Amino acid sequence: MRPGIRASAGDEQITISVAIVGSGPAGFYTAEALLRSDADVAIDIVERLPTPFGLIRAGVAPDHEKTRNVSRSYAATAAEDAVRFFGNVEVGKDVTIAELQEMYDAVVLAVGAPKDRKLGIPGEDKGNVFGSADFVGWYNGHPDFRNLDPDLNIDAVAVIGVGNVAIDIARILVRTGGRLDQTDIADHAKAAVTSASITDVYLFGRRGPVEAKFTNVELREMGALTLADPVVDADQIPAEVTGDWSDRDRRLRERNLATLREFAARPRGQKPKQVHFVFCAAPVEILGGDTVTGLRLERTRVESGRAVGTGETFDVSCGLVIPAIGYASHPIPGVPFNADRGRIECQDGRVAPGLYAVGWAKRGPTGVIGTNKPDGKQAAAQILEDIAAGSKPGRDALEAALAAKGVRWVSWEDWQKIDAAEQRAAQDGSPRRKFTTIAEMISILD
Ligand code: FAD
Ligand code: NAP
Repeated sequence: MRPGIRASAGDEQITISVAIVGSGPAGFYTAEALLRSDADVAIDIVERLPTPFGLIRAGVAPDHEKTRNVSRSYAATAAEDAVRFFGNVEVGKDVTIAELQEMYDAVVLAVGAPKDRKLGIPGEDKGNVFGSADFVGWYNGHPDFRNLDPDLNIDAVAVIGVGNVAIDIARILVRTGGRLDQTDIADHAKAAVTSASITDVYLFGRRGPVEAKFTNVELREMGALTLADPVVDADQIPAEVTGDWSDRDRRLRERNLATLREFAARPRGQKPKQVHFVFCAAPVEILGGDTVTGLRLERTRVESGRAVGTGETFDVSCGLVIPAIGYASHPIPGVPFNADRGRIECQDGRVAPGLYAVGWAKRGPTGVIGTNKPDGKQAAAQILEDIAAGSKPGRDALEAALAAKGVRWVSWEDWQKIDAAEQRAAQDGSPRRKFTTIAEMISILD
């Protein structure tokens, strides 16, 4: 039987109706795994934005165009008969989890981890301090952050954290206008970055270079920028990787140390901007009045893999602070939540009967795009193990509920119109010119 076509055996409904909440990688990998099974499923992907793909659109750096190509395979999944997209529908606001559970045999939470973790130090609420989720959302044209308006007419920026998100942010801040022209960075961000007066970007790691979370390809990219030199103090780079690492992790860390050594040996001052890698420095206070003017850090040493404060502090002048220290999920009413770990409480993805979690909402905010694939496969297997045959109305009930509430949902065909309009609006060399407000997106449809 063709998937998604309702069938009945006597009075029994066979098609299993599944609502997937969130259209990022984890949501799409779940849909793909369900489609690949032999089961008869109807899959509805419910997304709060009119645009699909989660962090592939709103997180991945605009100058990493090839990474975004993964969305082509998600688009192929969305085009399957058994799949429907309900964009511009926020679960928790337009429809509740309890309502979805009434309507669908299975509900999968693939809502990601869109909130910034807090540093918990004084001064975090000052002007021109923005968490990485907000700042990245701003340059990637996420409607929630359209009006963030960071002031980049400053000399120095402090990025806290030495993961790949911190590297992405540092790199975007020192890209040339010509390179940004080839990307789909939001217009407002391109204008701000290209007219910025920033000369120094600091990346602060609270532990040493061995413990840094960035990967080597991303680190090496920092050595090949047109406008900026990477700056590292050779004294901060240990001679060898110490600590309890797997062979693979040890090799990766040795590669990072080799790259940092090569950076440290370079002549300085060759380019107009500098990206400084500073290790063993933990932030203790963000300085200034209403607006940030500096950052106070405590020197640390690493003991058994942990940062231990030495009591010695130093200050760095900067007009913008961006903590890039990780993410957390939003609690959803009616769904058990682990506030300490910032993710949905579940047992291997099972939240409650008929309710599942995948991706960052399940595991927390770590892992690359492909890390979400096994989650999708596992959730699909669990659903098919738990539910032999469908008994709930699914799509028809959701459409009726949204119509009754006057929600203007965005179908896949609608998204394709938005997508085409963005591509038509692109200037030479850029893949698309993003709409950055929901109103603009809906206006081209209605
Ligand atoms: P998400 O991608 O966040 O998707 C969640 C979706 O759920 C979103 O579309 C959101 O709008 C939707 N949603 C949330 N709440 C609701 C609700 N209440 N109702 C309906 N919908 C909702 N990995 C790489 O491999 N390469 C990279 O270059 C890379 N760059 C990254 C850059 C950044 C800044 C970040 C933060 C991560 C990056 N990653 C990268 C990691 C990768 O993006 C994640 O592993 C992946 O996106 C997690 O997928 P997810 O589906 O769990 O969450
Ligand atoms: P991450 O890799 O976990 O890095 C977070 C950084 O913040 C770490 O250096 C961490 O230090 C630091 N940190 C955390 N709490 C801190 C605190 N209170 N004070 C000071 N520093 C603190 O997270 P991420 O950079 O957000 O990336 C999330 C995931 O997305 C990762 O798996 C990443 O690989 C992936 N990603 C991939 C790419 C890519 O492939 N190009 C790009 C972006 C993101 P400690 O280690 O000491 O905790």
